[in-house]
Amino acid sequence: LQQLSSFGQRFCADSGTFTLMDDLGKALTVNPDMLFLGGGNPARIEAVEYEIKLALEAILAAPDGIQKMYGNYQSPQGDPEFLEALASYFQRHCGWPVTSANIALANGSQAAFFVLFNMFAGDFEDGSRKQVLLPMAPEYIGYSSSGLCDEFFCSVKPQIEILPGNQFKYHVDFDQLPLSDPGASQGIGAVCLSRPTNPTGNVISDDELARLSALACARQVPLIIDAAYGLPFPGILFSDAGAPWDDNTVYMLSLSKIGLPGVRTGIVVANPEVIAAYTKANTALNLACSSAGPALAKHWLQNDHINTISRQMVQPYYAQASRTAIELITNACADLPVKIHAPQGAIFLWLWCQDLPISSQELYQRLKTRGVLVLSGHHFFIGLEDSGWPHAQQCLRITYCQPRPVLEQAVAILADELTQVYG
Ligand code: PLP
Repeated sequence: LQQLSSFGQRFCADSGTFTLMDDLGKALTVNPDMLFLGGGNPARIEAVEYEIKLALEAILAAPDGIQKMYGNYQSPQGDPEFLEALASYFQRHCGWPVTSANIALANGSQAAFFVLFNMFAGDFEDGSRKQVLLPMAPEYIGYSSSGLCDEFFCSVKPQIEILPGNQFKYHVDFDQLPLSDPGASQGIGAVCLSRPTNPTGNVISDDELARLSALACARQVPLIIDAAYGLPFPGILFSDAGAPWDDNTVYMLSLSKIGLPGVRTGIVVANPEVIAAYTKANTALNLACSSAGPALAKHWLQNDHINTISRQMVQPYYAQASRTAIELITNACADLPVKIHAPQGAIFLWLWCQDLPISSQELYQRLKTRGVLVLSGHHFFIGLEDSGWPHAQQCLRITYCQPRPVLEQAVAILADELTQVYG
């Protein structure tokens, strides 16, 4: 295309996210039998599919069901009944002092991140430029292509704690955090982290979160908590954690990982000023949000059934899948210098192949030719100044949303390839 604007050049170019998705898609087209441990799709959980079917049947049986699900544009902030149901749910189950004025919807949380990031970071009227701080690399790759200007994100290397049983865990390095330094924090417009983290499955501790929140408050920048996999729903956590919210926190939720990525429903919880501003931008971009997700999930919130789905169907499924994947990898890689990040939530395992003689991208390519699709970890080290950090070239993300036989085959090939690579 000729004569693309700078917006066109930025957003119509091959972003990291696009290249990755394209590569995964093509690999599957070339070899449909590929052992697919690459994507972020939630697993098919029979019990959840049955709940969706029941909800759809109830909608079809109601005289105005179709109209409510598909026939109306929602109001700019989202279906008022759904917002009320959410506010009441958050009050009952999270103790958050919110009303519907604190909540707005999005066509998937990805779309909300685009608006929120660019509301708080980028170019300012006074000529200054601010960044979104990701307090700990690696972080969700989906953020990386959402900025309207260059160097939109900055992030900090984590501290690495070695744990027993071939595991390790990342912690926020508060000493290196620009927020800890009043001068450096001038250039920060917002702080964002996913909890649990995609790609690592890390859940930063309540203490770490409280420290981040206090720093963000002191610097008067919002703290955005991406709870796509987290609390209160879908609650894919394998350890205890709180879900604090206050006026300076923007909580991002989604119906995707409970099993409904196709309805494209994201939920923003923030103070009313942020919600009002977000709603105007969202209207300019989308006019209205999808009403399918709200129609499906409204009753699950009103009668708390969403807790049953999250805690009795979704969480146990992934907890079991995570245990299976760890057992398989631990056994297959017993003689290899491979460590697994402490699995605390989400739907992935993050492997650290210590002193890997080739890059993780080369390993990804070699595995692809052997019919196993994973993700190379280097994609997730967004905004890191030290781009030569060897650790960033030594990690893989694998999803365990596949049946055990697929995982078994894939892990056997992974271990065999690694054995060859390490010689
Ligand atoms: N946040 C994280 C951490 C994710 O992994 C994803 C999707 O994979 C999203 C946000 C976006 O989710 P959605 O736009 O489907 O709500």
